[in-house]
Amino acid sequence: MLDLLQEKLAGIFKNLRGFGKLSESNVADAVKEIRMALLAADVNYQVAKELCEDVRKRAMGQEVLSSIKPGEQFVKVFHDALVDLFKEQEPGIHSVRPLRILLCGLNGAGKTTTAAKLGLWFKRQHQSVALVAGDVTRPAAIQQLQTLGKSLDIPVLTWPEEKSVERLVELARAEATQRGIRVLIFDAAGRLDADEELLAELQAVALKLEPQETLLVADAAAGQTAGKVAQAFQSRVALTGIVLSKFDGDARGGAALSMQRMTKCPLKFLGVGEKPDGLEVFMPERLVGRLLGMGDIVGLVERAQEAFDSASMEKMEERLKKNSFDLQDFVDQMKFIRKLGPLENLLGMMPGFNKLPISSIDENKVGRLEAIILSMTPQERKKPDLLNARRRQRIAKGSGSTVTQVNELVTRFNEMKKMLGRLKGSSPEKMMSQLMGGQRR
Ligand code: GDP
Repeated sequence: MLDLLQEKLAGIFKNLRGFGKLSESNVADAVKEIRMALLAADVNYQVAKELCEDVRKRAMGQEVLSSIKPGEQFVKVFHDALVDLFKEQEPGIHSVRPLRILLCGLNGAGKTTTAAKLGLWFKRQHQSVALVAGDVTRPAAIQQLQTLGKSLDIPVLTWPEEKSVERLVELARAEATQRGIRVLIFDAAGRLDADEELLAELQAVALKLEPQETLLVADAAAGQTAGKVAQAFQSRVALTGIVLSKFDGDARGGAALSMQRMTKCPLKFLGVGEKPDGLEVFMPERLVGRLLGMGDIVGLVERAQEAFDSASMEKMEERLKKNSFDLQDFVDQMKFIRKLGPLENLLGMMPGFNKLPISSIDENKVGRLEAIILSMTPQERKKPDLLNARRRQRIAKGSGSTVTQVNELVTRFNEMKKMLGRLKGSSPEKMMSQLMGGQRR
C-alpha cells in the first residue's frame, strides 16, 4: 500500500534531517519535492498545490523547538496538513435503522465485493442485513452476489424474473420490512463508463429506494480518474460517501489523497483485500501514518515535546563518547524509551541512533535487558565489575532471567565499552546494536 509515495517522502524527510533548523530555503526545497512526489503519485494537481502551500505556511510559522530535530518537526507539519485534507470527514455510517444503502460504481470497481464486505461488517455487529442484486440484465451478477451471500450466511434477495429495476426496488423494500431487516444493501448495476444510461437508471433507483447512504465504490488504482468518475456520479445522485476499493494494491495514493477534496464527499471505507473481511473503516490518521511510514511519529513528537530534554540527551551522548556510560545511564535510556512507546519510532529521534537498522532491534530483548538491569543495585549498575557469580544469580532470579542471560548482558556491555574506546563518532548505534546481540560491525 502506498509504497511508492511513501518511499519518496521518506527520502525527502531524510534530506531535511541533515539541516540544523527549518529555514525558508530548505522548506521551499522540501515542499517542491513533495509536490513532485504527489503529482507522480497521481494526486490531483489542485489538491497537491493547496496541500503544499499549506505545508509551506505551517512550516515557516513553526517555532524552532530545541528538543526536536527539523526533520521530525517537518514530518509533523506535513502530517497535520494531510489530516486536515480530510477534516470535513463525517465519521462512519448513518445510524438510522432500518438503513438502506445504495452502492454504485463502474463495472469492475469492486461493488459486488464491497456489498458482501459491508454485509459482513454489519453482521459482525449483530445487525440483520440483506443484500439485493440490482442488475436486472446480468444473471451472472446476481449469481455472484448469491454465492458471496451464501458463503457468509447473509440473505440475498432476488427476483430473477423481474426486469424492471424500479419494481425490483419496491419488492426488496417490502421484503426487507416484512423480514425485519435492519440494513438493506442494494448493489446497483454498473457499466464501463458513467454514461447517461447508467446514471439515469441509478437516479431512478435512488428515487425509489430513498437510501440514507449512497456510497460510490471507486477503484484506488484509477488515481485521480476515480475522482472524476465520482464527480460524474455526483452530478446525478447525492453521494454520501466513497468506498475506495483495491487500496491494498495501490502503490501511489492519488485517489486516496484527492478524492475527498475533489468531491467534497467523505471517504468512508477502504477495500484492502479480495476477501469479505478486507474492509476497513477509513481513518485519516491511519492513512497518513501509513503514508509517512512512521507509525505514530506524530504522537511521538507530541509526547517527546513534553518529555524530551535535548540537553540531557546531549550529555548522554557526551558520556557515550567519553566512554563513561554505565548501566545506570543505560537503564535511564530504556525507561525513557519505554515511556515513549514503540522502539522503532523512537530510535529515529535519538541523537546518534537514527542510523540503526531497525530490523536488528527486538522489543522483547529490550524488555529483558531492562528487567535485568533493574534488578541490580545502584552500585552494581555503576560498577558492573562487582557482579560476581552470587550477585548474578540473585539478579537472574529477581528479573526472571537465566544466569546465562545476565552473563551475556554483562559480556556485551564490557565488549561495548572496550569498543567505544576505539570507535569515535558513530558509537551510540554500534553500542545499541551490540547490546541487542545484533550484527557486529
Ligand atoms: P463490480 O463489477 O464492481 O461488482 O466488481 P467486483 O466486486 O466483481 O470486483 C472486481 C474485482 O476486483 C474482483 O476480482 C474482486 O476480487 C476485486 N476486488 C474488489 N475489491 C478488492 C479489494 O479491496 N482488494 C483487492 N485486491 N481486490 C478487490
